[in-house]
Amino acid sequence: MLDIVFKIERNKLWMLQVRSGKRTGASAVRIAVEMVGEKLIDVPEAIKRVDPEQLDQLLHPMVDPKATYTVLGKGLPASPGAVCGEIVFSADDAVEAKEAGREVILVRKETSPEDIRGMAAAVAILTQRGGMTSHAAVVARGMGKCCVSGCGEIRLDGQSMQLGGKTFAAGDLITVNGSTGEVIAGRVPTLPPQLDDNFRTLMEWANGVRRLRVRANCDTPEDSRVAREFGAEGIGLCRTEHMFFGEDRIAAVREMILSQTVDHRERALTKLLPFQREDFVGIFHAMDGLPVTIRLLDPPLHEFLPSEPAHVAALAGELGVSKEEMLRTVDSLHEFNPMLGHRGCRLGLTYPEIYLMQVEAIIRAATQAEREGVSTMAEIMIPLVGIDTELSRLRTLCLSRAESVLRDEGVDLEYTVGTMIEIPRAALVADRVAQFADFFSFGTNDLTQMTFGFSRDDSGSYLPEYVETGILDADPFQSLDQSGVGQLVEMAVQKGRAAKPGLKMGVCGEHGGDPRSVRFFHRTGLDYVSCSPYRVPIAILAAAHAALEDAGKVT
Ligand code: PEP
Ligand code: MG
Repeated sequence: MLDIVFKIERNKLWMLQVRSGKRTGASAVRIAVEMVGEKLIDVPEAIKRVDPEQLDQLLHPMVDPKATYTVLGKGLPASPGAVCGEIVFSADDAVEAKEAGREVILVRKETSPEDIRGMAAAVAILTQRGGMTSHAAVVARGMGKCCVSGCGEIRLDGQSMQLGGKTFAAGDLITVNGSTGEVIAGRVPTLPPQLDDNFRTLMEWANGVRRLRVRANCDTPEDSRVAREFGAEGIGLCRTEHMFFGEDRIAAVREMILSQTVDHRERALTKLLPFQREDFVGIFHAMDGLPVTIRLLDPPLHEFLPSEPAHVAALAGELGVSKEEMLRTVDSLHEFNPMLGHRGCRLGLTYPEIYLMQVEAIIRAATQAEREGVSTMAEIMIPLVGIDTELSRLRTLCLSRAESVLRDEGVDLEYTVGTMIEIPRAALVADRVAQFADFFSFGTNDLTQMTFGFSRDDSGSYLPEYVETGILDADPFQSLDQSGVGQLVEMAVQKGRAAKPGLKMGVCGEHGGDPRSVRFFHRTGLDYVSCSPYRVPIAILAAAHAALEDAGKVT
């Protein structure tokens, strides 16, 4: 489809200019598929003609290209789609508004796990701080929800927001475009997603040529069903902590954290076990016959405690301890640098009962699902390993509980225990780590954070300028830094497979849904990429492009 500029002068046709015509994502797919039908191009050429990023326009509502509007400010395009809603400034207000049938946009300085329910209730999320892998960005992408993060121009003042020279109060309407990062005053017309037969045909063709497998990052049975419909071939990352925030379980989580003795902690964990088991059963059902990687607890424990004094006092009341004691405990969990703090496998080693409960929940869920006729492939994943001994100890711990549960259930079941490679040291000593791992999954969010020394949550204040002024050619949290972080990935693949030939390897950082990074992972020899459910089609198409490039069919 071309833009042609021509004129006719004295009965003679002059072609003045011909160029490839601009097209929306939906048109690109339709043109490519119809041209194969008309035998003008072949299937590999049709696959090549659709830019994977353009699929975003089919999967999410987009701003009507004909609309005119004024942009108030710009942040990072953290999760695509465009939606309009009333501003709310707290997660509680978002939940309340949703219950009253209103569509709201949650505006926060930044989000934390405490905001999860509010994020789920909102139609979009807008934050003043945070990069492409900040909490808001990662959670919103997982939910398939529009998000603009790190919009530094916003000034927040309790119940009002200033942006673009205007002041907005709760209830005012704005439109957020997560595909461009734009924040717009009032309501802008949008076009709905367009998943039609042409899209499905293109996906089938892409599936026919790619080598790289594509999984999804899912935390709930619902996410898993969406991911499977989009073509996911398993779950590459289930972040178990996201289940801890449910209304029915957060009390037990907090009781567990505030326990002063192992005995008390185990009692609290016993309350949590059935919830975790039920969630896993649902996920195994949704992913029948496909692998499911479940990561054991990763974030620092203080993330599960309230931070506001009024909430701390309320929690003290609920748990029957004094407010002072509660404040002391909350204070003792405070860390100056929680990202480098008491989290990941460090939690599993110091509080083994937490990981033991989670392993038991996974294995009991898998045996229950099998009894219900489902075929399971559970992969237990240990986060934040940097030292091989961390993994060897935790592997022994996990296997011992898994085996005792299987004896108790009287069944035999296949499962594996592997690790994330997300600390640079783990990549450097990948040959040693591999001895205790059945698989590697690259956590490129943390690997990028720790290789550059850029905070995932605070980089919004300088990274956009780095990209604008050419210090970096792309945001490394969005598109993998192939020359730096990529070297660590290549080294770990090579060392890991030298120590253990055929070691299964994938990536579960956000880069798993970025087309340029997907091509790199293909070339590096990974077995799969895993990304948020709504990016699965994009990763499938990018993986097909990579395979075609390999086969020399595309120049
Ligand atoms: C990662 O670090 O890349 C990862 C997938 O884990 P998380 O984003 O939960 O830290
Ligand atoms: Mg991580």
